[in-house]
Amino acid sequence: MQKNKVYNWQLNRDMSYVYEEARPEKQFAAVFDINKCIACQTCTMACKQTWTTGKGQEYMFWNNVETKPYGFYPLAWDAKMLDLMGMQKWDGDKYAGKTIFEAAPKGNITQGYMPEELDYAYPNAGEDEPYGEGIKQGDYITMPHRIWHFYLPRICNHCTYPACLAACPRKAIYKRKEDGIVLIDQKRCRGYRECVRACPYKKSFFNKITRVSEKCIGCYPIIEGGEQNQCVKVCIGRIRLGGWLSAPDKADPSNPIDYLVHVKKVALPLYPQLGLEPNIYYIPPVHVKAPYMKQMFGPNVDKAIDAYKDAHKDETLLGVLTLFGCAEKRIKRYEVDKEMVIAYDSEGKEIVKVPLKDPVFIRPFHDKTLNVYRHNIT
Ligand code: SF4
Ligand code: SF4
Repeated sequence: MQKNKVYNWQLNRDMSYVYEEARPEKQFAAVFDINKCIACQTCTMACKQTWTTGKGQEYMFWNNVETKPYGFYPLAWDAKMLDLMGMQKWDGDKYAGKTIFEAAPKGNITQGYMPEELDYAYPNAGEDEPYGEGIKQGDYITMPHRIWHFYLPRICNHCTYPACLAACPRKAIYKRKEDGIVLIDQKRCRGYRECVRACPYKKSFFNKITRVSEKCIGCYPIIEGGEQNQCVKVCIGRIRLGGWLSAPDKADPSNPIDYLVHVKKVALPLYPQLGLEPNIYYIPPVHVKAPYMKQMFGPNVDKAIDAYKDAHKDETLLGVLTLFGCAEKRIKRYEVDKEMVIAYDSEGKEIVKVPLKDPVFIRPFHDKTLNVYRHNIT
């Protein structure tokens, strides 16, 4: 069934897929800096209020934020997938295991499973639950932390090789040429739920009332107007930056997403080994032990973390990281000049200009005019 060979740059090899390689003109993408997420769920609520307030959508979270390692939505989605896939391995930068397309049982397009209704009943399971050894008297903090957890915000990855699209027997799912956003044609869908079974990230949902499947639409009406997605705009922690990602051989260092993913390689895909070439990228948390991080983000985690820790020595990286949460418009290009980062939209218009370091003003401890003493002078 998987007759075509396509190139997956995240695996650094060709892989089998149902359809031929067809990259869009521009690929919708975003980078989430996990080090800054506080699990306030503002993104979850903004997405819910914008897109999933209808009947049958009550349980849907196109955007959710789960605590790792014990949080999941739906329950145990990644643990179940990893279990189904069994032991796989990387050979350096090259994936030497099977993808979900290559590991598909006979007669199926992908390896996968259908969640049960109760799996969706605990969206905040495991919230704030840490992993690790108990704290003993005299313990102090070391890096990576011995007791840790982190928050993982998730939306549909608008994958380059979507499993939902591959598995749909009605060809109701399509990837838009102009921006790579993956959509379900509600009129063609007959609610067979093959997309729900196939998507390893479990980001396609079945609506029991309308009897068709639904998923994150990448806020396409907002994107078409040149703006950032709802979840990016509202993010309290300013952890998100939306934009466009080029194929690695066409990477443009002046595009902030290309810079983070392809040039500096500080942002990594989620479970790349599954083979979908997902397009939401994560800056991994610096305080978490390497084996868990490598399983989740691939073999280049250590390098990504080292580059991120050294950002204060790298003006360009610092500049791009400063852009997170700074603009409502989508950024096409940026430049760093005289300790400022300047971002431009697709028409070349300046959108925002931000200093790399916040200016500090020091007021006198003793204010002679008012004859008062200040304890807070900065
Ligand atoms: S994350 Fe799932 S629903 Fe989204 S494009 Fe990929 S396979 Fe489809
Ligand atoms: S709004 Fe931002 S900081 Fe808050 S949970 Fe969502 S991603 Fe994390």
